[in-house]
Amino acid sequence: QKNGTKKHTGSLEPPKVNFDDVRLKSRQDYLRKREIERVALLAKQVEEEEREEAQNPDLTIKELEEFAANRNLLKLARDRLQARDNAEDRDGFYMDADNITKTETLNKRIKEREGVHDLQLWEEEQTKRAKATAGLRTERVQEGDYEYVFDEASKVSFLDGGGIPASQQTKELQAFKEQLEAAISAETSLQEGRKKLPLYAMREEMVQAMRDYQILIVSSETGSGKTTQIPQYILEENLAGGLTIACTQPRRVAAMSVAARVAEERGARLGGEVGYSVRFENKTTPGVTKIKFLTDGMLLRELQDDPTLSQYGAVMLDEAHERTISTDVLGVLLKDLARARGLETEQPLRIIISSATMNADKFSQYYDGAPLFFVPGRTFAVNTLFTQNPEANYLQAAITTVMQTHISQPLPGDILVFLTGQQDIDEACEELEATCKKLGNRVAPLIICPIYATLPSEVQAKIFEPTPKGCRKVVVSTNIAETSLTIDGIVFVVDCGLEKSNSVSNGISSLQTQPISRASAVQRAGRAGRVRDGICMRLYTEYAYSHELEEEPIPEIQRSNVESLVLQLKSLGVDNLLDFDFIDAPSAESLMGALESLYLLGALNSQGEVTRLGRKIVEVPSSPQLAAALIASANFGCTQEVLTIVSMLEESASLFYRPKDQKVHADSARQRFTHKEGGDHLTLMQVYNTWVEADYSITWCKENFVQYRSLQRARLVREQLEALCERIEIPPETTCGAGDYDKILKALLSGFFANTATLTRDGRHYRTLSGKIQTRIHPSSVLAANDQAYLPKLVMYSELRVTSEEWMSNVAPIEASWIGEVAPHFWKKAK
Ligand code: ADP
Ligand code: MG
Repeated sequence: QKNGTKKHTGSLEPPKVNFDDVRLKSRQDYLRKREIERVALLAKQVEEEEREEAQNPDLTIKELEEFAANRNLLKLARDRLQARDNAEDRDGFYMDADNITKTETLNKRIKEREGVHDLQLWEEEQTKRAKATAGLRTERVQEGDYEYVFDEASKVSFLDGGGIPASQQTKELQAFKEQLEAAISAETSLQEGRKKLPLYAMREEMVQAMRDYQILIVSSETGSGKTTQIPQYILEENLAGGLTIACTQPRRVAAMSVAARVAEERGARLGGEVGYSVRFENKTTPGVTKIKFLTDGMLLRELQDDPTLSQYGAVMLDEAHERTISTDVLGVLLKDLARARGLETEQPLRIIISSATMNADKFSQYYDGAPLFFVPGRTFAVNTLFTQNPEANYLQAAITTVMQTHISQPLPGDILVFLTGQQDIDEACEELEATCKKLGNRVAPLIICPIYATLPSEVQAKIFEPTPKGCRKVVVSTNIAETSLTIDGIVFVVDCGLEKSNSVSNGISSLQTQPISRASAVQRAGRAGRVRDGICMRLYTEYAYSHELEEEPIPEIQRSNVESLVLQLKSLGVDNLLDFDFIDAPSAESLMGALESLYLLGALNSQGEVTRLGRKIVEVPSSPQLAAALIASANFGCTQEVLTIVSMLEESASLFYRPKDQKVHADSARQRFTHKEGGDHLTLMQVYNTWVEADYSITWCKENFVQYRSLQRARLVREQLEALCERIEIPPETTCGAGDYDKILKALLSGFFANTATLTRDGRHYRTLSGKIQTRIHPSSVLAANDQAYLPKLVMYSELRVTSEEWMSNVAPIEASWIGEVAPHFWKKAK
């Protein structure tokens, strides 16, 4: 750290509440799944360790069976224990001492391999409870590692005393064995699958190249195995010197899903040897995790605490061709780090830049001619079709195309549809479902799978499940399936030709739907040719393709707001941004704009140095504006309220839903939360607080047409931010009560003063204070429903959304004097 400032180390704590809670209901299923995983692991271990000594291969199977039987007994015992706990039934329960010891040894062996994990924590808790109960009637409570306490005096046989009929036990055992076998055979086919990947054929050469060169650019067709295999090769060949291997991903969904896949391939539990770290969610175990998938943004954050990335022996910058801001900047910083941690040093850092085929040369040049390792892929021909005329409604066109394809094309052959975002995707899925319902059994079953960033991981996993015979799968995706995720079995691609991406105009950044580049269109089409010859149906004309699309995507750094980045670089000690060795530099104008906003925010001083406030802002993994609002809340004594609002703001777009047939109910439910004086911000808080009062209930969400998932996420984020408060020296517990909305809005305004607009004379439009952009309140805002006569004179908003017009979303009324109070520099300038 610059100036030797000491910071707390490590990323955020693992979440206290996670989405597993949602699955608590099926705890038994969960446990069973975990058990199978552990047994499969044991199977491998037993095989490895004992194959040599035991000439007779049957022995291992026998052992396995014995183990399975033990586990089964253990499970039955646990069930009984729980049942007894629940019923406060003091009847004794019995478990064979021999079994306990055996199980224990086996458990210990697994524990040693894996480190502690959630099942064990759960088991330990159960044990504690059991001990507490058992302690009431016996002195023979064993301390230490014993998992189950038994009482000789009340020794009752399982089958006699437990009321579990023998037949059921055998059935359970049988079922368990079957699951066991399935797990083992899945494991085998996984390993065979790994060997079929194009990368596998080049493994030796690839490993040799990594030995010889510190920086290697790897490029191949998508789906060759770069993401899933390279980190494993590095681990298996010990190229990271025993340190962790980081593999960055531009998107959180990709990081989570790929981590799950690699953990599966290695027979490891997610969060053990293989883990992931994304914003507000960390599934890694320090000292245990050897392969860590993380978003590029997270690695950039880690650099703040550990400027030499000392915990890593290798970093793979994956999907570098996407040119996200964070990957780009990491690329620059890694170039420097590579010099400091060269191959001749004690702790060398290996760097792999992995890219789809576009852009690979550019990287090689950037890294002073680093060798380019090209992996030839196997692809089939893809026939590309264009529409005759431009489509007015791409969503409808996509839905029709999917149905046409489904009806006219033979099975098997899955469909991949590229749309722009969650809203599109949900709508398309709904319509497809409705259409299929209408058609009934006149068409083959269509399995509809949405995929976008905020989808919970168990739903995401669905897209990878093999399509059953006689069915067709249709995956409806954002551009994430362009390169970061590979779904097997796709033969048809439907490409709407659009994507949502950031863009900046007049210094205002917004998320906009825009045409993709030709390079992306080619990439999308390529997804159809992975299993056999495929077809790509583009919902735009050939003319548009060749005349209206850009050749290559513009790097994000050149079309986004770079405030966050500038502050991060500044706090990493990069003083002169204009001289920074960017791969493609942002315009000087955009850099200056960012410096100015950061100065107005108080994060930089007039010399352009990071202030104390700036250092705190860097710590918060949200936009500088949200961070500043949170920090300011301490001055207004309303941190509890601002925590809620900050966490809810990111969910606001997906919070409410309106099922087609229940619009009226949905609207009236929403009406109940509406907070006119406090605008959207306080409305969001009202929703959250009411949900908390309803004890975080799912039913409540359904009744009120609020997305449970969004609230859960907000709750998670809120907890993480609350835990962070201490680090940035603000007392988290202050509260002013929901009624004092002036204070709350002032705190928010301290971050968002630049997002303010005044009502123009026409009484409908607003003009932003900085930039003087004409804009309106988005119809989804609670203020939009206001009679024109009551539209507030001055408002604050959280972002501008650009469609056919510029809209302000999340709007709240404010007073002019407040701006002067919280942001005097800005106010002087704006007046
Ligand atoms: P690349 O990075 O070169 O695009 P990947 O390593 O992502 O390739 O993918 C290799 C193969 O692994 C894919 O063809 C796919 O079959 C499989 N795969 C990748 N991710 C998953 C996943 N989450 N679930 C199931 N299979 C996956
Ligand atoms: Mg990949």
